[in-house]
Amino acid sequence: MCFIVVGCKYIARVYPRQFRLTAHPIAVGLVLAGIAFFTTVEMFYVVPMIFDPDGLMYKLTWLLAIFIVYNILGNMLACHRTSSSVANLPKDRQIPAPEEEHLWHHCDYCQMLVPPRSWHCKLCNCCILRRDHHCVFTATCIGHNNYRYFFWFTVYLIIGTGLAMASHMLLFVINEDMRRMYLLFHFLNLNGQFFQSGFDHLSIVLNLIFVLNVYAFIFPLMMLAYQLPTLYLNTTFYTRRDGRYDLGIRENFKSLMGKRGLWTFFSPTIKSPLLQDGTKWEQKLSTVCNCYMSKNVI
Ligand SMILES: [Zn+2]
Ligand SMILES: [Zn+2]
Repeated sequence: MCFIVVGCKYIARVYPRQFRLTAHPIAVGLVLAGIAFFTTVEMFYVVPMIFDPDGLMYKLTWLLAIFIVYNILGNMLACHRTSSSVANLPKDRQIPAPEEEHLWHHCDYCQMLVPPRSWHCKLCNCCILRRDHHCVFTATCIGHNNYRYFFWFTVYLIIGTGLAMASHMLLFVINEDMRRMYLLFHFLNLNGQFFQSGFDHLSIVLNLIFVLNVYAFIFPLMMLAYQLPTLYLNTTFYTRRDGRYDLGIRENFKSLMGKRGLWTFFSPTIKSPLLQDGTKWEQKLSTVCNCYMSKNVI
């Protein structure tokens, strides 16, 4: 796995255009195909074996599935369409005010001064405000303006794949006939005879789906594990030890999610204006003093 990541990073660095044109459609296609596949399997095959298809629980499960898929796709689309590029700032904000000039730094690629916490992305070929990382699954850079959408996209992927796994477990627990079809049943040796009964084509398909489901759950979970310190300390993926902008969990959360904070969980369409345009970053008082003393401000 590490071998693939290193290879991808090398290709992205040496052949950014080719990487973008290849990796983006594959990664986005994988996400869309995965959503369509798991939603179909769960809602038309697995859940009807747990709840009565004419009953209230089945209808409520459909509502929940629609809500989750809406939030995955909605946040994914909003993330892709919301640019965090420095070039998207109003013209008068692309040039530092005299009192801010010492905080800005020069980008050798863009040949201009860019705001603090902005970094150049070779794949996007521009500087990104509070750049976190380039995400192939949303085919864009994650930065100041679209971080909120990326975060909830990841969270809803975890919720969706987590509930799909939970439905398999529920089927395992409540349906004795189906239980024999899961490898887990035989690994636990619940029937006393290892691999002796209950295996057919349906069983193989069911187990493959379950294994795919586990992978589909673990991947966004790892993505979120990387994002939690970012959110907690107001850092970025590549500057995880930089605690200068940590203003406390509430302020950090608002800084990334906007004025509505946690309400943004419910829909990507909820308006949540960001506290500033991505050019001015408040620092902890102690680090401000250190930075001025060493003249090493970002
Ligand atoms: Zn640049
Ligand atoms: Zn990028």
